[in-house]
Amino acid sequence: MKNVVLLGSTGSIGRRALEILSADSNSRFKVSGLAAGKNIQLLEQQIRNFRPRCICVANQVDADRLKKQFPGIDFFSGASGLTRMIGVTDPDTVISAISGTDSIAANLAALIKGARLCLANKETLVAAGALVQEALDHHDGQLIPVDSEHSAIFQCLQGQPRESVSRILLTASGGPFFRRSRVELENVSLEMALNHPTWKMGRKITIDSATLMNKALELIEAAFLFQIEPERIEVVIHPQSVIHSMVEFCDGSILAQLGIADMGIPIHYALNHPERMPLDVEPLGLDRLGTLEFFGEDSMDFPSLSLARSVLKTGKSAGAVFNAANEAAVEAFIEQRISFLDIFIMVEEILSRSCFHPVRSLQDVTSAIEATRAQCREWLKRKFRS
Ligand code: MG
Repeated sequence: MKNVVLLGSTGSIGRRALEILSADSNSRFKVSGLAAGKNIQLLEQQIRNFRPRCICVANQVDADRLKKQFPGIDFFSGASGLTRMIGVTDPDTVISAISGTDSIAANLAALIKGARLCLANKETLVAAGALVQEALDHHDGQLIPVDSEHSAIFQCLQGQPRESVSRILLTASGGPFFRRSRVELENVSLEMALNHPTWKMGRKITIDSATLMNKALELIEAAFLFQIEPERIEVVIHPQSVIHSMVEFCDGSILAQLGIADMGIPIHYALNHPERMPLDVEPLGLDRLGTLEFFGEDSMDFPSLSLARSVLKTGKSAGAVFNAANEAAVEAFIEQRISFLDIFIMVEEILSRSCFHPVRSLQDVTSAIEATRAQCREWLKRKFRS
């Protein structure tokens, strides 16, 4: 039986992961640890259903209260609690689905311990790609992507010699503002940006989809995951989101992975790789789909993708800075302090003013993030003074 720890159990990926784990007909998985943020009510239900050994929550107050309710379970709290939980449970598999940078240390710990890391968190590779690479080079851990695009690419690459790959075609839905002009984007409201046409997701990632910053982060992740130069990763706008991504090979063949918009499929694949196990999902129904459309990345007038390519070229802490600046900009937009187009201006200006340092330890990542957050606060202050 595989011992599984799930980080982010109450979010949309976490909830789907628990459904997948409990639907496994051969009961090959045992959930030994769960981590959640503030949705304690749902977490309590999950504790009763899965009886894990360890739990990590965001606040110590919640941990103390839950401890009284579930005396047989070990409780941890905060980002350091995530890493401690990995240490105590010694998992075979970690599903990492907490967004943000809090879980980076725990994800690295999972790889160092030799676990399979099923990674849905974007920030780990964007901000700490060099550390992930080092952990993979020196330990037995395994990294399997869960994000639908990277899972698609990973699946297309199975059994294919790396040198036969000519390009990765990373698909993007285009989000709610595909084909809108700059002028039209000037007065985009929060509500409009939160209205994603195909995927139901959290607020931060939905805004990132509207700005193409999500695709920019995914481009950086793909370069790390598949060890490919940024010039050979092309973004294809595919509004129907039926093809989750493609790989073009040196003989002109393109392999694609298709499926319904259900994160259960990539989660299930990551858990079972290299095997393919049955999963009870709605069939795609190609005959009902009608037309599939594809547009070049230049059909969207956003600087996000070129920022991502220059971040990859710069290397060092540029990924951590880029991610932290975007996080702060999205937060300011959600709080309705800046406009939609200000997100790009803010990220570009912060990147152009930052100094980048080599990333050799988690401390280097944390320092870059903290320095960027301070710069973002200054930027916002200056904006409101003028
Ligand atoms: Mg994605």
